[in-house]
Amino acid sequence: MTRTSIDNLIANTIREDVRSGHVYNVPDSSGYIKLDAMENPYQLPEPLRAQLAQRLADAVLNRYPLASYATLKEKIRAKLGVPAGYDVILGNGSDEIISILCTATARQDKRAVVLAPIPAFVMFQRSAQFAGMDFVGVPLQADFSLDRAAMLAAIAEYKPSLVFLAYPNNPTGNLYDEADMVAIIEALGDNGIAVVDEAYQPFARTSFMDKLPQYPNLVVMRTLSKLGLAGIRLGYLAAAPALLEQFDKVRPPYNVNVLTQVAAEFALDHVEVLDAQAARLNDAREILAAALAALPGVTVFPSSANFITFRVPDAERSCAKLFAERVLTKNLSKMHELLANCIRVTVSTPEENSVFLNALKASLQA
Ligand code: PMP
Repeated sequence: MTRTSIDNLIANTIREDVRSGHVYNVPDSSGYIKLDAMENPYQLPEPLRAQLAQRLADAVLNRYPLASYATLKEKIRAKLGVPAGYDVILGNGSDEIISILCTATARQDKRAVVLAPIPAFVMFQRSAQFAGMDFVGVPLQADFSLDRAAMLAAIAEYKPSLVFLAYPNNPTGNLYDEADMVAIIEALGDNGIAVVDEAYQPFARTSFMDKLPQYPNLVVMRTLSKLGLAGIRLGYLAAAPALLEQFDKVRPPYNVNVLTQVAAEFALDHVEVLDAQAARLNDAREILAAALAALPGVTVFPSSANFITFRVPDAERSCAKLFAERVLTKNLSKMHELLANCIRVTVSTPEENSVFLNALKASLQA
């Protein structure tokens, strides 16, 4: 096929918003200290890795996964605090759960709305768009707290089917006020599902999970990614079984592969090891936040996650210097005006944190 005919084919078949869009950008990180994606820098300790290797070797790869995922779901319910009477569905990362939620709520009779405070995790907007939904972003206040009045007004005006509230929020790192969240959940009532995205719960150590029985329109989404298993891609959504049954209808069958299932079951049997790593990263976060706050011209925003968002006099200059020193961070400046000159850095090992800090210091010198 010639080049021209491929262009025509694309123009004739691919939707306009996809053609004019772009691929989710993940920079090549080989040779860099990777502090841009909120990964846990620690692997499972050696004896556990050897045991896991054996389990993976025994995994039944010639068969599809058991479609019910009963054992893995049971371990999640038991180990991760899902209330009695509530269940989970699994996703290939919580990214897939977001997409499942949008697919299930994108109505055919009218354009349904996804609403979220912004700046927020970009997949809320992208998944809404791909499902053919409208996205409404309601700006946070300058201190990154929820603008409760604006959220409630937007809910009354747009009647969203889904509201995403990341708790703590990415990219700002803070926990929203619980009473603001509850006001939003209550305002949605029967007309909208409140998705509390607890990707960073292992660090925040607070949760809406135990509120599931109080609010039928509340669902809680989590991931094993930030806990130290980003590579296996496993997310889950806890909710009332009747609601999950609807989401399950649009979930691709066998969406969680056998290797992920085996690795996740093994990791959950040793979840205290991962919890201890998270606790260590929380300690490191406090040390790093204090060191950042002591730098001239740097403002640190409070974080309950495994990353810190901070403002510098010139984020482009600082990120360029960090990059030159082979440290990857995320310049948030272009994401939203509230994030002007803000950088997000993942909390890592003491060694990597100190390489980062020194490079940042150098970038701040005239
Ligand atoms: N929610 C939030 C708030 C996130 O920051 C992320 C990842 N950065 C995700 C969900 C997706 O996580 P995963 O697909 O790895 O489960």
